[in-house]
Amino acid sequence: MAQDDQFKKLIAHAKEYGYIFQSSEIYDGLSAVYDYGQYGVELKNNIKKYWWDAMVKMNENIVGIDTAIFMHPEIWNASGHTSAFNDPLIDNKDSKKRYRADELIEDHIQKYQSKIEKEIKKGRKKFGDDFEEKQFLETNPNVLRNKVKIDEIQSRLVKALEADDLNEIKQIIIDCEIADPVSGSKNWTDVRQFNLMFETQLGSTADGASKIYLRPETAQGIFVNYLNVQKTGRMKLPFGIAQIGKAFRNEIVARQFIFRMREFEQMEMQFFVKPGTEKEWFEYWKEMRIKWHKAMGLPEEKYRFHKHDKLAHYANAAYDIEFEFPFGFKELEGIHSRTDFDLSQHQKFSGKKLQYFDHESGESFVPYVVETSIGLDRTFLSILSACLKEEEVKPARLAGGKDNGETDTRVVLQIPPALAPIKLAVLPLVKKDGLPEKAREIMDELKFDFICQYDEKDSIGRRYRRQDAIGTPCCITIDHKTLEDNKVTIRNRDTMEQERVQISELAKIVDDKVSMKKLLKKIF
Ligand code: ATP
Repeated sequence: MAQDDQFKKLIAHAKEYGYIFQSSEIYDGLSAVYDYGQYGVELKNNIKKYWWDAMVKMNENIVGIDTAIFMHPEIWNASGHTSAFNDPLIDNKDSKKRYRADELIEDHIQKYQSKIEKEIKKGRKKFGDDFEEKQFLETNPNVLRNKVKIDEIQSRLVKALEADDLNEIKQIIIDCEIADPVSGSKNWTDVRQFNLMFETQLGSTADGASKIYLRPETAQGIFVNYLNVQKTGRMKLPFGIAQIGKAFRNEIVARQFIFRMREFEQMEMQFFVKPGTEKEWFEYWKEMRIKWHKAMGLPEEKYRFHKHDKLAHYANAAYDIEFEFPFGFKELEGIHSRTDFDLSQHQKFSGKKLQYFDHESGESFVPYVVETSIGLDRTFLSILSACLKEEEVKPARLAGGKDNGETDTRVVLQIPPALAPIKLAVLPLVKKDGLPEKAREIMDELKFDFICQYDEKDSIGRRYRRQDAIGTPCCITIDHKTLEDNKVTIRNRDTMEQERVQISELAKIVDDKVSMKKLLKKIF
């Protein structure tokens, strides 16, 4: 299926099955703002728990906080956001569409990268087992030609961004003959800088209202509380502070569903270390974070690291973890070594000392910081896009030998069981003969441990399909025999295999399948 169609299907599925709705839909929606539906909120909460547990529960030296969205406006002067949190924007005069100029160029570079990947595929096909990728990349003339192009454009872009040279950015677009992806037109305006922060007023005008911002990241709430947490928690270096919360950015281009939203959630952790040890900790967190992603069990080849070519002036190392979304590899998480920039800036702007006293050396210093910063909504999208499948299925049979009425194709969301919104569906085979009562009795016990859903409407096959479509890992069917032998049929979402088990064993069987502990054990 073409990538575009696949992405459209995903968006339609997310809406049809109560995962994501356009915000204010009955008023024709609000651009790049989304609401999470009844299943979406459960998946989101489970991702948050998985992240929080991996940070706060599993690490003695990491604690969590929850800071306000509104902050003192001076904070954004200290952090550099008021002067430098800009994106270069460009408009196409014919289509009237607006783009991020740097992204147009990066997408253009990606085209050369795709050509290299095609050459590798051809090479692999031609040389079979004798194929040596490294040697091929160093010698194949087509690869080398494309590489030169990439390096040339990349280095021009990095230089232009570093120098804030907007004319040069436009010149690259002209020289590369980049056309509007929608209309094909090359009729561009000049490039302008655009600040992404939302402004609002604190207090009424009569009181002398002051301009404040909706925070564009959660990290600053951590930095300005560094000393509060360090002192009250008696934290010793190295230690971390984690936070999950909303962030707001007035994004120029917002056309990729929940990938780029104007209101979104971040999960950030700032790890405070002794100066000089930051490179070591940077490597440590890089490894830990990729492990966290891979433990979920989505295809490993969908993740890759991307080293930043253009480092912020205060950073001494930065990598992204990229994920292959339906529209290509894009940033999912950033891991940054930020030196003492943020704390030093807040020290300077607030006039308050933000230092750490090291009892061993008897010295005071501003700690260095290694940050891990991941988008909750992008993680959600990565899971949904890798887990939505359309499958051919053979008609299956119930344990008693009867055809269960399953049709021959199904749409299934193979979400990692620990993160699935509904863990267990409780299905009486028919709506009579005491089966609904028995089903309710089982559910009333299991709902203390798992989010369960009761469903007695339609054929059992259709009910399985509904549960597949929302990603429920386990379904149990209560039939007439259940009343005699206290056993139910449990069906596995992914294999569709069915097994007859004792009701008394259900809690253990389901827990074994959906426990978060299993995910965490893969990391720790
Ligand atoms: P991008 O280059 O895609 O704009 P960024 O480098 O500005 O992202 P960071 O400032 O490093 O992003 O933010 C950390 C994380 O927050 C990102 O890796 C991403 O997962 C998430 N994020 C950032 N902007 C958005 C957005 N507009 N919508 C959803 N998630 C976002």
